[in-house]
Amino acid sequence: MNESPQCLAVMYHYVRDADANADGGDGIVALHPVDFAGQLDRLCADLEPVDWQLLDAWYHGRANLPERSFLLTFDDGLIDHADVVAPILERRGLRGVFLVSTESIVERRPAPAHQLHALLSALGADQLRETLLARLADVSNDRWHLTQADRSRVDSIYHYESPVRAEIKYLIHYKLSSDLRDDVLGLLCAAHLGPATLLASRWYLTIDQLRDLQSAGHTIGGHGHRHEPYARLTPIQQQHDAIRSIGLLTEHLGAGSRPFSYPFGSIGDSAVHACQEAGFTAAFTTVPAWIDAQSDRFRMGRVDTIAVDNFLETHELCPR
Ligand SMILES: [Zn+2]
Repeated sequence: MNESPQCLAVMYHYVRDADANADGGDGIVALHPVDFAGQLDRLCADLEPVDWQLLDAWYHGRANLPERSFLLTFDDGLIDHADVVAPILERRGLRGVFLVSTESIVERRPAPAHQLHALLSALGADQLRETLLARLADVSNDRWHLTQADRSRVDSIYHYESPVRAEIKYLIHYKLSSDLRDDVLGLLCAAHLGPATLLASRWYLTIDQLRDLQSAGHTIGGHGHRHEPYARLTPIQQQHDAIRSIGLLTEHLGAGSRPFSYPFGSIGDSAVHACQEAGFTAAFTTVPAWIDAQSDRFRMGRVDTIAVDNFLETHELCPR
């Protein structure tokens, strides 16, 4: 194993022309395909592309890694990844790592985060807030107006969002119990977007598309079965979720070395243990850092696409 290589894992989600896409709109933060291609060109100019097989072989001491490399990762099993991303990668001879939540793909159940994106796109933030609070008043006796303490948490977690969008996201992801969140999002989606399977068909890759990606040389990994932040699950629930995730991937795509990415970047010792014990061979966080010989294989850093330029400017490469 050569000792000094550094690899930059880049993290992507939506890659689509939001203006031209029926599922574009307000709820989705998308990277435009032209900007995606431009970023690939800049990465290829500065660093050498590697795929999962090579990084995995390097971790096991079976291969050398280029001194300065990058790896492309795509979370959430979004339909963009077959429609837009794979053709752009394959034209350049690049291969990616696609990290998918098996419940959305296999059972065609949209994840709460994506239900929320779809509702924000369909209704806009103001109308969604009003409708959400009205529905919550119907189904729960609790009052859902934010306290002063909530407000300061909203500001620190969602500082990059408009106040209304920040309030909605905080309510859904932090304030409501998982059951109430699922109930209210289910009701709103049924009322405004139609059946869950229809939303899933517009949002997610199918098993066949995953097989095609794998056959073309890309890697399919896990991103939780239910796309829940692991910090919200008990250690036993984390283990069940990780086992279900790799079980379904193996059943539909065959055995292989599969990495994992922690949903919402939510990580702790029990989450690491759960995905290691389940049989994933490595895992990505959302902590921006180079992957190098000192990196923990189950806590590999990643840099979001929008932060790549800044990261490369501010995180010096080790001297050769
Ligand atoms: Zn995700």
